[in-house]
Formats: sequence, structure tokens, C-alpha cells
Amino acid sequence: ATGNPVLTVENLEAWYGESHILHGINFNVKSGEVVTLLGRNGAGKTTTLKSIMGIIGKRTGSIKFEGNEIIKTSSDKIAKQGIAFCPEERGIFSSLDVRENLMLPPTIRPGGLSLDQIFELFPNLKERLNSQGTKLSGGEQQMLAIGRILRTGARFLMLDEPTEGLAPVIIQQIGHTIARLKSEGFTILLVEQNFRFAATVADRYYIVEHGKIIDGFANSELSANMDKLHTYLGV
Ligand code: ATP
Repeated sequence: ATGNPVLTVENLEAWYGESHILHGINFNVKSGEVVTLLGRNGAGKTTTLKSIMGIIGKRTGSIKFEGNEIIKTSSDKIAKQGIAFCPEERGIFSSLDVRENLMLPPTIRPGGLSLDQIFELFPNLKERLNSQGTKLSGGEQQMLAIGRILRTGARFLMLDEPTEGLAPVIIQQIGHTIARLKSEGFTILLVEQNFRFAATVADRYYIVEHGKIIDGFANSELSANMDKLHTYLGV
């Protein structure tokens, strides 16, 4: 069951230097949902996640998280409010081993997962505990990147293309993990190019195009929206 909006984004605009990238993004994510942002390359999905995390130079509009306005809040304070971001490039430190990578982010809120809880979720990581970041497969790196943000205690997770470049069997595993996290009450905002994967985990979708949200629908409305997906994403 899903509840009230935990995240409400209104008229979000964002810039990289002089480049105006987001032109008024509007959407929300309710407690316990998995919401997926879909859209072509360069549409502004990653920029939307970065704006919510506060790691983009200039942003205007409104981002309310659990009722608090965070559009002017610094990224460290946003993290402390319980938002975590797992970037597309994963950010694994190649010279550190699995344990060291996991220990990097501080636990910023109560409720962060212990290493044992993370290994229960990702048994592969336990076997690779002393392996350096460079020795990990793409799938292991992605699991490490997700495991790492779970240590922080954040309950709102933003995952940027977690399936990119991964083999089907690993993608399936990531899907099970997302379903498991949802069942444990996490709220997840996902960016995906892989629509077939998104369809296995998402409750709702928004389509991003040229820095705007141009449409949104629930998973139950998927079949009625297939032509749109075809038009906008080539699905
Ligand atoms: P992708 O899947 O390619 O990441 P996306 O929908 O996530 O697509 P964004 O990464 O948000 O798209 O990029 C939106 C636009 O912003 C693109 O035109 C991109 O070229 C531009 N952009 C992204 N990062 C920067 C940056 N650091 N400086 C300037 N422009 C950028």
C-alpha cells in the first residue's frame, strides 16, 4: 500500500552553467512506491535526480521532501534528511575493497543497514569482501553501489540506470532487490532506459522530454499508453 507524497517536485528548473536543462518538472512520489522516470538520452532524467540531491549548480522551483522545502538546501543536509542517490557511474573506488567501499558513507540516520544485512541482500558481495573495486563485475559493482547507500539510513533511494550494461540474469537480480526493498518500506525513484526492466518493478511512470514531464501513468494503465511509449521512447 502506498501513502502520501514523500516527494513533490513543482516547476523545477535547472542549469549547468549557462545551459538551461530542466524547464519546469512536475511530479511526485508517494511513500512506498517505485516510480520510474523514462525518456530518451539527454531528456533530463539524471539532471532531475541531481537536482533533488542538491548536486547541481542552479535550480529553482520547489522540491518538497517529507513536507520540507529543500530547493535551497545543500546536498549534505539533503542526505541527512534521508535521500540517497546511486549514480549511473556507480562511484565505486577501484583501489578500495568491498568492505572499505561499503564503509565509506557515514551512517547519517538511524536505521541504516548493517554489513550483515547488506550481505543478506547481496550474498555475492560477502564472497567478494576483500576484492578490490576493479576486480568486481559490473553487476557486483552495482550491488555494491546500492548496498552502500543502504548503510546511510536513507529511506528514499534514487537509482540512476541500475541495469545499464548488465547481463539479463543480473538485471533480474537487481529487480528482485528493488522489489524486496519496496516490500521493506523503501521508496524508490528510478531512472531507466530499459523499459522492459522498469515494467517489472514500477508502480508508476513519468515521461521526461526536453527537460519537462510530458506524461505520467500507472503500471495498471500501461497497455493504454503503449503508443505513447512507442512515440517517445521507441519501445
Ligand atoms: P542520459 O540517459 O543520457 O543520462 P538523461 O535524460 O539522464 O539522459 P541528462 O543527463 O539529465 O539526461 O542530460 C540532460 C541534458 O543536460 C543533456 O543535453 C546533456 O548534454 C546536458 N548535460 C548533462 N550534464 C551536463 C554537464 N555537466 N554540463 C553541461 N551539460 C550537461
